[in-house]
Amino acid sequence: MAKETIFSKIIRREILADIIFQDELVTAFRDISPQAPTHILIVPNILIPTANDVVAAHEAALGRIITVAAKIAKDQGIAEDGYRLIMNCNKHGGQEVYHIHLHLLGGRPLGPMLAS
Ligand code: AMP
Repeated sequence: MAKETIFSKIIRREILADIIFQDELVTAFRDISPQAPTHILIVPNILIPTANDVVAAHEAALGRIITVAAKIAKDQGIAEDGYRLIMNCNKHGGQEVYHIHLHLLGGRPLGPMLAS
């Protein structure tokens, strides 16, 4: 069984986070260490550790993550200029929290896709 992370506690509102959207499938909250003027994480409410663990039964929640990201981008006023959606996987991907999540980053030109 996968080990819960701090994100499960945020989803259950057991610890404080700046939650900007929640429904029966996903939760979105501001990243605690923002890398851009807008930096929001969108996570499934169920624990899926990494992209490697995704199966067909997760498609509704993971599809919802994209729909919600697009809605938040519009609401935050960054949709027209554009933004970046990132999902890191495991060590080489730079994943730190093992509860799958989509980063929504925007509010300034983000530069090249990879730093190095
Ligand atoms: P990743 O490297 O893709 O696993 O990204 C994990 C992200 O979670 C990082 O950008 C962290 O700043 C963010 N993070 C970690 N703990 C919290 C928290 N308690 N509230 C909001 N964001 C967090």
